[in-house]
Amino acid sequence: MEQREKKYALVTGGSRGIGRAVCLKLAGMGYSVIVNYRSNDDEAHVTLGMIESAGGEGELLKFDVADRQDVEEALSSWKSAHEGSYISVLVNNAGFRDDSLLIWMEDSSWEQVVDVTLKGFLNVTRFLLKDMLVARFGRVVNISSLSGIKGLPGQTNYSAAKGGLIAATKALAQETARKKVTVNAVAPGFISTDMTRDLDENELRKLIPAGRFGTPDEVAAAVGFLASEEASYITGTVISVNGGLYT
Ligand code: NAP
Repeated sequence: MEQREKKYALVTGGSRGIGRAVCLKLAGMGYSVIVNYRSNDDEAHVTLGMIESAGGEGELLKFDVADRQDVEEALSSWKSAHEGSYISVLVNNAGFRDDSLLIWMEDSSWEQVVDVTLKGFLNVTRFLLKDMLVARFGRVVNISSLSGIKGLPGQTNYSAAKGGLIAATKALAQETARKKVTVNAVAPGFISTDMTRDLDENELRKLIPAGRFGTPDEVAAAVGFLASEEASYITGTVISVNGGLYT
């Protein structure tokens, strides 16, 4: 296949959890998937191996989404190596939580959580958006959270970041709709990944109408739909994937 004909998708935080499932979903949809991650080389290689074993294609691109210089260097070198191509699907998935009650919260905990989510969105999306607008096709899917809709105690930093990401999604969607670039968010509830490993699933599942945590694949299904060409008239929206926990 000619390189020019390939469709590229970038998934931030693709080395583990939800991001890995999204990488596999998009690879299955025919995208050549760029798997971003911050530090975990071993897990990133596992994701790439899974893409390739399933007959798909991908590559690794390591950078810290919160670091503008790091993002721009990595994406510029990707562009130079793929002249004539552009990244048409961006999934802003990288994120982490650092919970504490606000009264005890350190500045660093607030800043790091907000920066990875919101500066991460800014740094990566701003860099890739121009090519999507010029090509008149693009899909941006932002992974928010139930926490950004409802707010969760112990997570004022994370709730602020994820709520801000939803507001940014709605604003940007209105800027880009005429150029056929859609911008949407997915808001997972409790999903079984490394991020939720320390939570008491047996207690929390009692609160969830579906009676269980969700799987990364269940989140990836929603992302895949929003990234598809069929979702062309859906923009500025948020799909909750939370087992009925909050509607
Ligand atoms: P996870 O298993 O902890 O994986 C986090 C991923 O993000 C890893 O690939 C990690 O890379 C990457 N990452 C973290 N900081 C980064 C940075 N600064 N730059 C680049 N990559 C970075 O998390 P997850 O549960 O799959 O969560 C994925 C997304 O879903 C997050 O945005 C999270 O807030 C959101 N979410 C999760 C849940 C849930 O219940 N799990 C619920 C709602 C929303 P390394 O492997 O290199 O560390």
